[in-house]
Amino acid sequence: TAMEDKSKNSGPDLRSPICCILGHVDTGKTKLLDCIRRTNVQEGEAGGITQQIGATYFPTENIRERTRELKADATLKVPGLLVIDTPGHESFTNLRSRGSSLCDIAILVVDIMHGLEQQTIESLNLLKNRNAEFIVALNKVDRLYGWKSSPNAPIVKALKQQSNDVKNEFNMRLTQIITQFKEQGLNTALYYKNKEMGETFNIVPTSAISGEGIPDLLLLLVQWAQKTMEEKLTYVDEVQCTVLEVKVIEGLGTTIDVVLVNGVLHEGDQIVVCGMQGPLVTNIRALLTPHPMKELRVKGSYLHHKELKAAQGVKISAQGLEHAIAGTSLYVVKPEDDLEDLKRTVMQDVEKIGTPICIP
Ligand code: GDP
Repeated sequence: TAMEDKSKNSGPDLRSPICCILGHVDTGKTKLLDCIRRTNVQEGEAGGITQQIGATYFPTENIRERTRELKADATLKVPGLLVIDTPGHESFTNLRSRGSSLCDIAILVVDIMHGLEQQTIESLNLLKNRNAEFIVALNKVDRLYGWKSSPNAPIVKALKQQSNDVKNEFNMRLTQIITQFKEQGLNTALYYKNKEMGETFNIVPTSAISGEGIPDLLLLLVQWAQKTMEEKLTYVDEVQCTVLEVKVIEGLGTTIDVVLVNGVLHEGDQIVVCGMQGPLVTNIRALLTPHPMKELRVKGSYLHHKELKAAQGVKISAQGLEHAIAGTSLYVVKPEDDLEDLKRTVMQDVEKIGTPICIP
């Protein structure tokens, strides 16, 4: 039947990979996120991109459209990409470790004019400790003296148009940065010259201002994720969910912003969350997401959902969340679960994250 054919062709049911952006201050993390979020300026359309709680969702359609020039259409199997909005957050230092623990893949941003800096190395150590997959965005290539801009072009095409002086400066800085990575014990290479994918980490030169290299970055993120972590990205029924923030919202009381990494959440689900004074057991009163991009200005109002499927950024409203701790896991109580067991499990997270973090 048609349905069987479909399941044969599409392989396992994959969820969207979750990506976070790390790097030293001022390397362009926020700008890069803005740039990949940018709507098709000419058409003024959001292309299905949705702003979520603490994250932005890019449907595969949008990625396909923006990577057309790279001719990789058929290879996209995931429904989209969920990018966590940690840059610019006032608690970024805490979120950096939290954010990275729920991410499948990271973008490590390095300023081509500055090379590896202190927080680059901190981020790098975090990624190494977690054995995490990441891609280096070698950002601000447009700052190379004499750079000719070709907005949103694939990087190879953009580099071809440069004068020899620009190419030389680019190569010199790239070589220096590859050496700096080597000093940190990591092999890196330009992604289109990388012959040992997996052993050697990929570098994608980018400009968050004029968009060169952004198509490459998007495509590589999705392709690399689906190639190396099919099992991890296979959709399961078990809920995997992390609390990003605890926030008081007018009209809703204390809410928690979570990233639903896998599984489904339903309105009414009984949940267990880690609290300052012990486990919190409550029921989901509302599952909320912001309005689509265009309507983002409708402030303070959210879309209500009966259920939401991973991966997504979600706001949960429920009673008794006042002392919930950000950075910990949320569990859904199923009929066969032992509540006391879950309560113990949930509290083990506090040890993992160290001092409880309270975000006002
Ligand atoms: P963050 O601290 O890593 O989030 O960095 P921001 O995104 O706030 O960027 C820091 C500064 O660098 C801002 O003034 C940006 O406009 C600028 N910037 C970021 N990306 C680029 C880039 O690709 N090219 C140029 N020329 N400037 C950039």
